[in-house]
Amino acid sequence: MDIITVKDKSFKPYISEEELQASVKKVASKINDDYKGSTPIFLGILNGSFMFFGDLLKSIDLECTVSFVKLASYEGTGSTGQVNELIGLNEDVEGKDVILVEDIVDTGNTLVKLHEILSEKKARSVKIATLLYKPEAYKKHHPIDYVGMEIPNAFVLGYGLDYDGLGRNISSIYVLND
Ligand code: 5GP
Repeated sequence: MDIITVKDKSFKPYISEEELQASVKKVASKINDDYKGSTPIFLGILNGSFMFFGDLLKSIDLECTVSFVKLASYEGTGSTGQVNELIGLNEDVEGKDVILVEDIVDTGNTLVKLHEILSEKKARSVKIATLLYKPEAYKKHHPIDYVGMEIPNAFVLGYGLDYDGLGRNISSIYVLND
C-alpha cells in the first residue's frame, strides 16, 4: 500500500483490512455475548458507519433488526439555540435495546446527542459501538460500550470515513500525511 492523494491532501496507510476485520469480529463477539436472549435494534449512523455496519452485522448471530439514521443539527430560533434532530428513524424504539453504530468517536458530541434523543424516545437501553475511538480528543464522560480500536488524535480516512465527501469507498484506513 502506498501514499494516496485525496483532493488536495496526501494520506498514508494506517490500519490494514486484516486489522480492521479482526477489530470488527472482536466487537461482534462481545455484542453476541452481551445480548443473548434479546432482539436488539442496530442503528447505523450515516454516512460514515456504512462499511463497519455491514461487516459488523455479518458477524452478529442474534435475532435483530437494523436501521440507519442521520443526525441533523441546525440553528433554532431565539432561545432554542442548536437543535438536533434524528432523521430516518421510522421504528418505535420504546422498550427496545438499541445499539448505535458509529464510525468514529472524536469529541463525543455526536454520541451524547444521539444518546439523549434515543433515551427521550424511551428505549430500554442505548449502547454505543464504534469502530474507532480517539481518547485524547474525547471530552465527555459517557461510557463507550464497544470500541474496535483506539487511535491517536489524527485525521483518518477510508472504510466509510471521508475527507470532504471523498474516500469513503477505500477498504482500509489511511491517516493524513503531514
Ligand atoms: P464527534 O462528535 O465525536 O466529535 O465526531 C464524530 C464525527 O466526526 C464522526 O462521525 C466523523 O464523521 C467525524 N470525524 C471525527 N474524527 C474524524 C476523522 O479522523 N476522520 C474523518 N473522516 N471523520 C472524523
